[in-house]
Amino acid sequence: DFDALVLEEGPEGLVASVRRLRPADLPAGDVLVRVSHSGLNYKDAMILKGLGRLVRRYPHVAGVDLAGTVVESGDTRFRPGDAVLLTGWRVGETHWGGYAQMARVRADWLVPLPEDLTPRGAMAIGTAGFTAMLAVQALEDHGLAPGNGEVLVTGASGGLGGIAVALLARLGHTVAAVTGRPENAGYLEALGASRVVDRSEFAEPPAKPLLSERWAGCIDAVGGDPLAHLLAEMRYGSSVAACGLAAGTALRTTMLPFLLRGVKLLGIDSVMCPRDTRLATWNRLTSLLPSELLDAITTEIGLDGLVDHANRLLEGKVRGRVVVTL
Ligand code: NAP
Repeated sequence: DFDALVLEEGPEGLVASVRRLRPADLPAGDVLVRVSHSGLNYKDAMILKGLGRLVRRYPHVAGVDLAGTVVESGDTRFRPGDAVLLTGWRVGETHWGGYAQMARVRADWLVPLPEDLTPRGAMAIGTAGFTAMLAVQALEDHGLAPGNGEVLVTGASGGLGGIAVALLARLGHTVAAVTGRPENAGYLEALGASRVVDRSEFAEPPAKPLLSERWAGCIDAVGGDPLAHLLAEMRYGSSVAACGLAAGTALRTTMLPFLLRGVKLLGIDSVMCPRDTRLATWNRLTSLLPSELLDAITTEIGLDGLVDHANRLLEGKVRGRVVVTL
């Protein structure tokens, strides 16, 4: 038997409780993994609160990320004892995920844990950090190079934003970190931000379709009106990697940044990212993020702390990343 956080629909909404399950309760798949760590992403918080209609069938085990050790494998690529990690592929949404001490998944979804990364470190990075690396790569692919100018990161006190700040800084970029929590300025500077910008500057759509050109690139974790605003401040030919929607799903912009300044809006998806890109991206993350940095951004909780931390995350009160120890 093993512990799992099980979500069920009750008369008054979703109920989450830690229960004992057996391997036979798990969904079909070719690899059984003993999960040692998971994480808490924005999407996990939405799922734990029943938001966004991401989960259609209950009972459900959430957790879009997991790391652990292979127990049984019906696939030649994995053997018992192998250390693995998994993010995305709609695990934790349409397939049971990481908030359990065991998971049965498809071998195609698994990434061998990079040699220099611990399972805890992998989950400190998680989907949020993996997506931040994809965003950096998208900006690089579209011409961003160190020395081009300030790169803006929104939602910087969150998981994706904090890792984006750290990655950009370590790659030699000058980073301006946007946050609604000025008390985190010291934390953001320690991650590598050269300055901290108050999020109130971006709260409204721009007063004019084009404002003064300020940013050489942007990793945006929030979408909505802040994205509309910053699009009007992007420098000629620069790109924005659009990763998130913490400030809303609607985008009230005009065509002018795109047509008059050649600004590029690059959509980033981590969930269905192809396997080859995943392996290369995890190796790059491992080489760029030392364990001390991961420790500095991480809060550790157990299954019983998840619902509380999901509430706090949706209220914008969690800093950095949350790792769940199973
Ligand atoms: P997170 O830790 O909660 O970070 C979100 C941050 O956004 C918050 O810490 C806050 O930062 C800022 N924020 C929150 N509410 C806001 C509002 N109303 N207006 C402006 N800023 C606000 O979440 P995360 O796990 O890093 O994820 C960030 C976003 O990326 C989410 O929308 C998530 O769905 C998305 N995401 C997408 C992918 C993908 O594949 N595309 C993958 C992972 C995550 P400050 O306090 O510093 O302002």
